[in-house]
Amino acid sequence: MTSNDRGPVRRRALLRGVGTLTVAAAVTRPGIAGAETPDWTDLRKRLQGKLLLPTDGEYTSAKQLFDPQFDGDAPVAVVEAAAASDLVAAVAFARDHRLPLATRAGGHSYVGASATTGALVLDVRGLHDITVTDDLVTVGAGVPIRAVLAELDKSGRSLPVGSCPTVGLAGLTLGGGLGVDSRRYGLTCDALESAEVVLPGGGTAHTSATRLPGLFWALRGGGGSAGILTSLTFRTHPAVSRDIVRLSFPADAAARVLTGWARWMPTADRAVWSNVEIGAVAGTVECSVMIVTPAGQGTAATANLTAAAAATPISVTHRTLGHLAVADDIAGGSTTPRSTKVAGSDVVRELNAAVAGAIVDIVTARSRSGAPGYVLLDPLDGAIRDTRTDATAFPWRAHAASLQWIVDAPDSPADARAWITGAHRALGAASVGAYANYVEPGVPADRYYGGNIARLRAAARNLDPNRLLRTGITL
Ligand SMILES: Cc1cc2nc3c(=O)[nH]c(=O)nc-3n(C[C@H](O)[C@H](O)[C@H](O)COP(=O)(O)OP(=O)(O)OC[C@H]3O[C@@H](n4cnc5c(N)ncnc54)[C@H](O)[C@@H]3O)c2cc1C
Repeated sequence: MTSNDRGPVRRRALLRGVGTLTVAAAVTRPGIAGAETPDWTDLRKRLQGKLLLPTDGEYTSAKQLFDPQFDGDAPVAVVEAAAASDLVAAVAFARDHRLPLATRAGGHSYVGASATTGALVLDVRGLHDITVTDDLVTVGAGVPIRAVLAELDKSGRSLPVGSCPTVGLAGLTLGGGLGVDSRRYGLTCDALESAEVVLPGGGTAHTSATRLPGLFWALRGGGGSAGILTSLTFRTHPAVSRDIVRLSFPADAAARVLTGWARWMPTADRAVWSNVEIGAVAGTVECSVMIVTPAGQGTAATANLTAAAAATPISVTHRTLGHLAVADDIAGGSTTPRSTKVAGSDVVRELNAAVAGAIVDIVTARSRSGAPGYVLLDPLDGAIRDTRTDATAFPWRAHAASLQWIVDAPDSPADARAWITGAHRALGAASVGAYANYVEPGVPADRYYGGNIARLRAAARNLDPNRLLRTGITL
């Protein structure tokens, strides 16, 4: 168990400690009329990297995110940082000119928060060093998942990360980080040992469980509202070969598969991971399960899942691959082309027959409408529960599963959003919240942070007294 929180009195003291770093900055509100016109030439002179204004040729590609639906967004400028000092200069400039800030790493925010219209974008992709030392890796905040996995693979090590190769490690960590190693090693943010941060109130900080623990707490799952990460150091684990088994089941077994999966998953060895997908495809419902185990254990895990589900798969594929090949296989390649996804999430405490039935009904209704859409269920047990619910800002550590509703490349994004909003409504009280990395429009912040919201708000107020940072979730 990891914990840096020893109760309310200690907690207030930690936040006060963080606050002393920021009091030097005058508290102003971004975007207030009367702020001076920015002297961009002055900022440009102070940067080692580039400053791109809307009049610059490279501006359009510089502000481009993973999802083309945000191509029309118009930040006031983009700072392509070449060093942490560029971010310090840009933050001071934003404070002086009351400009909101949007930090960008991998650019995969589901709401396009990292290129917010009207904000000064702080692009950290130029910070991309990776240093492996024994069982630690230190990465610049601009490093994407696949790059760090490939570098670690050379020394037989790995990190618990998500599936998409081009997602930024910084953004992933800030929201938590769910993936194939979560049951064995916890979330990405659970592997974080320390970080270097540019503070929105001014200056920089090195933070860990023992240095500025209030800041460290907020960075682990609390999103980008506490500061601008420039470097992250993680604990690594051994990379191993694995079995990947993919099963598909008949539509009428979907609810049984879900409840069976939910009963089986907590009984499985932590080295075993599995998720379920139920999709509306061409007017029908498809149900599939992926199981990932250490090499040689896939057959036994598959037998246990099918027994728990009391269902016979229509098809089974089974492969054994090296560690990096497994990551590529799950991701569908070593890179991901830009694409539009309308997505949203729920977190369920329990996945009993009633909840499983409701999930299948939501997808079945979608299939009857003829429109596509699917839900992915990831487990929240195993090592995720080794860390106390209030020990980091990520609050979902006593819950059965995260659900992600997705419509890929929808003909009508509005219709896709309406389906997902309807899914939240249909789940009702069975859903206790949502996962911050699967942020969606119109969902209040307390849905993402549960019982940790008050502490996170206090931390953000202390650390960002001018409320410069825009993250897609308004605290
Ligand atoms: C195709 C796809 C697959 C995904 N798969 C998974 C998965 O398997 N598991 C999972 O957990 N999540 C997954 N996600 C969600 C992903 O973790 C979040 O979208 C995450 O925020 C993306 O981080 P980024 O750096 O790529 O995005 P960005 O858009 O660059 O950043 C997102 C937010 O993070 C903050 N941020 C980024 N960099 C910094 C920084 N240096 N300092 C401070 N704040 C910063 C900012 O608030 C920013 O708005 C997936 C997303 C997509 C689109």
